[in-house]
Amino acid sequence: MQTAGETYYRATANPGEAFPPLSGTHEARVAIVGGGYAGVNLALGLAERGVRDVVLLESESMGHGASGRNGGFVFAGYSLGEQSLLDRLGEQGARDLYARTVAAVNLIRGRIARYAIQCDVTDAGVIWANWFRDPDILRERQRLLAEHYGVNWEWWPRERVREAIQSERYSDALFERNALHLHPLNYVNGLARAAAGQGVSLHEHSRALRVRREGADWCIHTDAGAVRAPVIVLACGGYLANLKREVDRAVLPIATYVMTTEPLGERMRECLRTQAAIYDTRFAFDYYRALNDTRLLWGGRISVRDRSPRAVQKLLMRDLLRVFPQLNGVRIEYAWSGLMSYARHQMPQLGTCGDGMWWMQAFGGHGAAPTAAAGELLADAIAHHDESWRAFSGFGLSRSHKPFGYLAAQANYWWLQSRDWLKESLRG
Ligand SMILES: Cc1cc2nc3c(=O)[nH]c(=O)nc-3n(C[C@H](O)[C@H](O)[C@H](O)COP(=O)(O)OP(=O)(O)OC[C@H]3O[C@@H](n4cnc5c(N)ncnc54)[C@H](O)[C@@H]3O)c2cc1C
Repeated sequence: MQTAGETYYRATANPGEAFPPLSGTHEARVAIVGGGYAGVNLALGLAERGVRDVVLLESESMGHGASGRNGGFVFAGYSLGEQSLLDRLGEQGARDLYARTVAAVNLIRGRIARYAIQCDVTDAGVIWANWFRDPDILRERQRLLAEHYGVNWEWWPRERVREAIQSERYSDALFERNALHLHPLNYVNGLARAAAGQGVSLHEHSRALRVRREGADWCIHTDAGAVRAPVIVLACGGYLANLKREVDRAVLPIATYVMTTEPLGERMRECLRTQAAIYDTRFAFDYYRALNDTRLLWGGRISVRDRSPRAVQKLLMRDLLRVFPQLNGVRIEYAWSGLMSYARHQMPQLGTCGDGMWWMQAFGGHGAAPTAAAGELLADAIAHHDESWRAFSGFGLSRSHKPFGYLAAQANYWWLQSRDWLKESLRG
């Protein structure tokens, strides 16, 4: 079993030199706080546009937050569903924002190839498996995506699903071909090295402790150094930075859990005969995929509680055995939790006060493609004064009302979960 605080991803991370902590005082053009997908994508986006003197500060190590501990799915869309996006923005606005995440999936694929990032990328799509018997759930989403977003997900009948996933649990499924999965920690580290290769100065173990206005610049202090820059970007996800109250209080950190089995060898074929990643149609869905070393990576649950590896394992094992009872007795070697950042509107928050301070956060449980899209938008805004980031301006820093937000969120989760349970019991 794992040592304290370790994840499977950390245990299998590619070797590489750590980035040194910040020391002394530095001048920069842009300073970014947070070494997750969001901050690192932006750093690389700026470097690719020729912006020099970019500094990135990470309080622990790159990918310490959600980005180095997630399910590894890379697919289009946002935490907010497509119907709600359409209701909020109308046809044109919703289509434009969704298309940015489709482009982001292609960008991620392209960067992995271009920078030769070794991150076990498996470009085999994602299956959305129907937990319920009601086929309309799939048909409606398939129609919505085709009619309003110009995206075609393939419908798979029960027999085809059974062939790919050896479980009685599902009826039919939709298959999203333009999707992939990868080792998220190796991916984020690969992006960080690509940024470093183009001149970005990255620093681990460099917690930003304070941000102060100094003339026309901002000054960010760590315990061993400081960076002065006219532009700063807060990209701290659910691991709240405590730097700007309005930014922190706009999100709720919500936990979700992951574990990996021992290597299954030939037993993998007893449950999965597909390289695609899988999630299901419930509100609190299971998400899982086969790893290259024949382990099964299994994730699920959403909660306001961070749990110990042992508690995560216990909860998730129950879920796994509901889908694959044939894996009874399998050993779990790693279990961990991570924090997602959710806004009340369930969309990312990209914005600025107009005084050089920017933020990019609230990517929720669907962050791989949206963080790449957001990195491009903010890089264009900072490098070229491009205004396209305003496509997100309808989703601002609405207050999440902690601690009542937690209670409301937990109550809402229970309600949605009980609705799924009822649906399952009544209609199967
Ligand atoms: C268990 C789990 C499974 C998920 N599965 C998927 C999935 O399969 N597919 C998908 O698309 N999305 C998934 N997500 C969501 C996705 O991981 C996130 O949306 C995304 O990683 C958010 O990136 P981020 O950079 O905004 O935040 P984070 O990755 O959390 O990064 C924030 C960083 O800021 C740093 N930081 C905080 N404060 C400071 C400070 N004061 N100074 C310096 N640094 C600081 C933190 O240490 C952290 O590294 C999952 C999330 C979790 C937790």
